[in-house]
Amino acid sequence: TRIGVPKEIKDHEYRVGLTPASVRELAADGHELLVETGAGADIGFSDADYQAAGATIASSAEDVFANADLIVKVKEPQTAECRRLRPGQLLFTYLHLAPDPEQARLLMESGCTAIAYETVTDRDGRLPLLAPMSEIAGRMAVQVGAVALHKTTGGSGVLLGGVPGVLPGKVLVIGGGVVGANAARMAMGLGADVVVADRSVARLAQLDDLFGPRLKTAYASTDALDRLVADADLVVGAVLVVGAAAPKLVKRAQLAGMRRGSVLVDVAIDQGGCFETSHATTHSDPTYLVDGIVHYCVANMPGAVARTSTQALNHATLPFVQALAGKGWRRALAEDPHLRNGLNVHDGRIAHPAVAAALGHPF
Ligand code: NAD
Repeated sequence: TRIGVPKEIKDHEYRVGLTPASVRELAADGHELLVETGAGADIGFSDADYQAAGATIASSAEDVFANADLIVKVKEPQTAECRRLRPGQLLFTYLHLAPDPEQARLLMESGCTAIAYETVTDRDGRLPLLAPMSEIAGRMAVQVGAVALHKTTGGSGVLLGGVPGVLPGKVLVIGGGVVGANAARMAMGLGADVVVADRSVARLAQLDDLFGPRLKTAYASTDALDRLVADADLVVGAVLVVGAAAPKLVKRAQLAGMRRGSVLVDVAIDQGGCFETSHATTHSDPTYLVDGIVHYCVANMPGAVARTSTQALNHATLPFVQALAGKGWRRALAEDPHLRNGLNVHDGRIAHPAVAAALGHPF
């Protein structure tokens, strides 16, 4: 199979579909790799690295799209990319079609077959190609929160780890899923005093087993959150209710009970946010103040650590790329119902029931 990797063209997107390490594995499987010049240059993967791994360097995106059977990307195809896709071609990338009818229309018109990372499932009913980004966002949440607590960035002037003789800062993580567990891990690593609150007692029990007595867990009742929020230096919002907007778990009135300069990091902002006062921000202007409380609400946190994100994403996607390229997509999907769940567009139609329903298309 001829596998093409174009350079991402969405604004501020530095990730790339395949790393040189992945290219090497796929070349060893006997595939031909066509990588657009400069595709990984922003994150330290040079054309020479790709060539050494066995790829041919293409001089343009046109060249990649015209000659590859399978296109591996990161972000949903932009309009120019959709126009380059053609019947019989396979696209494997994040699509997020449900809120994007225009992209859905262009993909259907292109005649390509598109498999979306975000709807591929695993045996536990989780989303294995979204999990790496949640891991990264969770770990980053504590890193950005720690810096936001600095006086110089408008924070309260608390060092999360404390020092001998000074108590550590208090971190409250609301939602103990993938994001929350990774945030808790980082916060404990810094030496902070960490509480995870969740509505799932089973999940809290898992975290308790995993981290032992250094992690405190709390059932996320309104009552418990009232007290814990008032006491926290840093609150990480990490809840998810599948298929729904995030519930607003911290109300504006509660900010008055917090120390001035304390920090809210709303990782759930991509689902609307779980603090009433959250609105989406960008990496170039990530924080704002409401009632003296610092808010960080960047919707694409992993983009800031594009090199790590690319590597982590590749570790999750590579086995699927190998299956698609090695068996052909029809057989790969027939043999793996979880990869089959990734099928979003085929033969000019939306091929995923939930995505079709969200777009108001027949299925
Ligand atoms: P997850 O499903 O692994 O975990 C969500 C947790 O929230 C679950 O444990 C669930 O029990 C808990 N929960 C649900 N309702 C709750 C409530 N009312 N109170 C307390 N806990 C509650 O999801 P995840 O992968 O950790 O993702 C969390 C959020 O982070 C999602 O919205 C996801 O889209 C988002 N995310 C954002 C970024 C970013 O860059 N901003 C990156 C990755 C993920």
